[in-house]
Amino acid sequence: MLQLFLKKGRERPIINGHPWIFSGAIERVDGDEQEVGVADVLDNKKNWLARGLYNPKSQLRVRLLTWHQETIDQSFFSRRLSRAVAFRAELLTGPTNSYRLCNGEGDFLPGLIVDRYADYYVCQFFTAGMELFKDDIIAALSALIAPQGIFERSEGRVREEEGSEASVGTLTGEPPPELISIEENGHKFLVDVRRGQKTGFFLDQRDSRAFIGTLARERTVLNCFAYTGGFSVYAFAGGAREVVTFDSSHPALELAEKNLALNGFEDKPGELIKGDAFAYLKEIEQKFDVIVLDPPSLAPKRGDIDAATGGYKFLNLHALKHLNPGGILLTFSCSQHLPAELFQKVVFGAAVDAGRKVAIVRRLGHSIDHPVSLHHPEGEYLKGLALRALD
Ligand code: SAH
Repeated sequence: MLQLFLKKGRERPIINGHPWIFSGAIERVDGDEQEVGVADVLDNKKNWLARGLYNPKSQLRVRLLTWHQETIDQSFFSRRLSRAVAFRAELLTGPTNSYRLCNGEGDFLPGLIVDRYADYYVCQFFTAGMELFKDDIIAALSALIAPQGIFERSEGRVREEEGSEASVGTLTGEPPPELISIEENGHKFLVDVRRGQKTGFFLDQRDSRAFIGTLARERTVLNCFAYTGGFSVYAFAGGAREVVTFDSSHPALELAEKNLALNGFEDKPGELIKGDAFAYLKEIEQKFDVIVLDPPSLAPKRGDIDAATGGYKFLNLHALKHLNPGGILLTFSCSQHLPAELFQKVVFGAAVDAGRKVAIVRRLGHSIDHPVSLHHPEGEYLKGLALRALD
């Protein structure tokens, strides 16, 4: 097995449980440096610290799996995944059959995402190390959950940084149907796991969708960055008078229309509008009682933060201008690089510029199936504020 020695003084975060080791912290590697594989991590004095997956092609050289001397094999993944399965089974009772089963670092399996959509599961192997154990992981998962089928959606920026090609397709069992019908808190949605964004649905927003259901009664709602209409369905179910569903993606809006109909809201007042939300928010005359702002990450990379804060400020400023007195704004950022405090400051700046007095009603974040490791705060990407505008 590869052995990797840290530079002097670089062991503290590892001892404290942080799962990432960057190339700059490594003094030397014993073994085949060019091979992806399991590696033991030792400090400068040769004390054993942890075990993880090594990838020479990534600046993020090692992602740690364990702080015990246990073998990394199918049984290891089976133990980790069975805890993840049990945790969801305990916490997600009721009419919800779709959730994140494994949340990477938050389930102490960095590089692995598993989402459940009714009887199908979608996996993402983001690192070359996890990819090496794909067969073991699929075997372990299949034994635990008896899926109808497991589909893979390993693609995107992290894969490129790892030097891996995209890999998309059925891994085992039946190929999923074009649209999977799922249930979330008793509401029905169609999910396109092959072509949809992320693995097909924004499972991380479940709790905030449920929240809008509690405050939508008799209200007019603008659901901006609506994707397949999740917040819109919950708003109508909560008694909203009218809901405008806005997104730039045509396929997303097509599904949003189907989702509204599936829940019996096809004849309710409101529109589905395709366009650029930045332009729309600036141009419209209409005001709303509730506005949802859930944009895609405006800062995908650390260097994007300045531009991103400008974008968030613009959106929140114009949303606040279109909020009726007493209205509620649910505003989100899913940019991992934008800290919650900075996001709040940006929203504050927007409120000042909009000439509104605003109170925080609730702080919002990932739903419970998206645990974040306390040792890896970088995993906390989604933050939201429920705001009430006074006048
Ligand atoms: N709230 C949604 C998830 C939103 S994801 C849910 O609960 O499911 C972000 C969405 O923003 C995507 O659907 C994407 O198509 C859309 N989007 C990206 N850029 C946009 C823009 N400039 N204007 C409007 N929508 C945009």
